[in-house]
Amino acid sequence: MDRVYNFSAGPSMLPLEVLKRVQSKMLNYEGSGMSVMEMSHRSKYYDAINNEAESLLRELMNVPENYDIIFVQGGASMQFEAIPLNLHKNGKADYILSGNFSSKAYKEAQKFTDAVAAASSKDKDFTYIPATTPDMFRADADYVHMCYNNTIYGTRFTKIPETPAGVPLVGDVSSNILSEVMDVSKFGVLYGGAQKNVAPAGVTVVIVRKDLQDMCAPICPTMLKWKTQVDQKSLYNTPPCWSTYVAMEVFRYIKELGGVPAMQKINEEKAKILYDFLDNSKFFVNKVNPADRSLMNVPFFSPSAELDAKFIAEAAKEGLVTLKGHKLVGGMRASIYNAMPIEGVKKLVEFMAKFEKENK
Ligand SMILES: *Cc1c(COP(=O)(O)O)cnc(C)c1O
Repeated sequence: MDRVYNFSAGPSMLPLEVLKRVQSKMLNYEGSGMSVMEMSHRSKYYDAINNEAESLLRELMNVPENYDIIFVQGGASMQFEAIPLNLHKNGKADYILSGNFSSKAYKEAQKFTDAVAAASSKDKDFTYIPATTPDMFRADADYVHMCYNNTIYGTRFTKIPETPAGVPLVGDVSSNILSEVMDVSKFGVLYGGAQKNVAPAGVTVVIVRKDLQDMCAPICPTMLKWKTQVDQKSLYNTPPCWSTYVAMEVFRYIKELGGVPAMQKINEEKAKILYDFLDNSKFFVNKVNPADRSLMNVPFFSPSAELDAKFIAEAAKEGLVTLKGHKLVGGMRASIYNAMPIEGVKKLVEFMAKFEKENK
């Protein structure tokens, strides 16, 4: 069977080239006589993978020297708990609620710290990014949390919020890591699950400034404590070797393509094709505030739920799959991460035009 264009929000497409490389090394990785799935995380082969994944990500994201990068398990969701436990000095944390995941992170934090919602876009169903100024946050907050790209609602921050002096910003980058240039130095912590833009599910990237690693709450479990994995180079316990290995292959591939600026350029091009079509359509609509539109996740609607269902079914027959919107939003959602080729977006838009003509 031919491969489809998979618009899933996650787990999502991986670059075909990376899949082929991984396949070619599957049975015998670099002369080890075994696959990466079978080898010890203490072997020289895995040690090289672990080191290269770290150094390539550092290079691609321009991560300054005063930050550590760790590869952990538990997904971004486990970091919702790790964050208030690791950043725990005054026991206060301020959250920007811009969608489902930031709200979940906020809810978890309330168990461990005095968490407050400093800003929210819930009043308009999270269709925009709430504006903030430093005085909206507590000056003695341990951190301010934001979700950089809102996977479900299809919005993204285009300006990084300013926090009061000395209050670190924590960013969830699960659905836009490596898709656009980010200024890591504006954050104290960045974290993201791999399964959208980086690798198969299983590994989570956490980038933590060094001076923020000594304020962990005493009750913080060893496995949630960032310093545990920093000190052990992400090898405190058995790591998700396979996911980290595929991540390394993705990092190599992105570097060959020209790095994150090159990815951003193509992502902007892809998103423009889809948004331009939506803006000119009298049938399909995207309800997000135009200035806050995501480059990665594009929710859209036809005139009715029946037509949405028909669209999704007919698109699948054309090899355009997983276009159903999240249940919180409904309609459709096209996730166009790094690995979605521009041809996939063009084919989607052509199909949308045809469907519009036939059903309006
Ligand atoms: C998918 C996603 C999550 C949840 O990630 P898990 O790895 O499944 O825990 C959190 N935040 C954002 C922005 C996401 O897109």
